Amino acid sequence: MIKMDTLYQILVIDDNAVNLKLMSELLTLDGFIIKTCFTAEEALVLLQSTLPQLILMDIALPGMDGLQLTHHLKSDERTRHLKIVAVTAFAMKSDQERITAAGCDGYISKPINTRTFITQIKTYL
Ligand SMILES: [Mg+2]
Repeated sequence: MIKMDTLYQILVIDDNAVNLKLMSELLTLDGFIIKTCFTAEEALVLLQSTLPQLILMDIALPGMDGLQLTHHLKSDERTRHLKIVAVTAFAMKSDQERITAAGCDGYISKPINTRTFITQIKTYL
């Protein structure tokens, strides 16, 4: 574990409870403060009262999807500075282009590699 001076808050959005739990546990073990949401709509409500430093964004979500939510957040003065990293099984080049076009700052492919996940996350902080 790398000691950090600041407590970093990360919002993890994923409609799959197992994925959500795995990512949250890895990040919590490393000292991050974690908030979780199952849907984009839930995240929008949460973001009205708290702004994390980083959002881990599942793309395939029921209702508003992760790319729509990213586009929305990157278009809003209040939230456009938030780092957003897509975490998704969509790994084709065209998918990556859509992810970048929506405004995501980066991309981590699913299933996540539990050995390198934290290192990958820290490159965005
Ligand atoms: Mg999903």
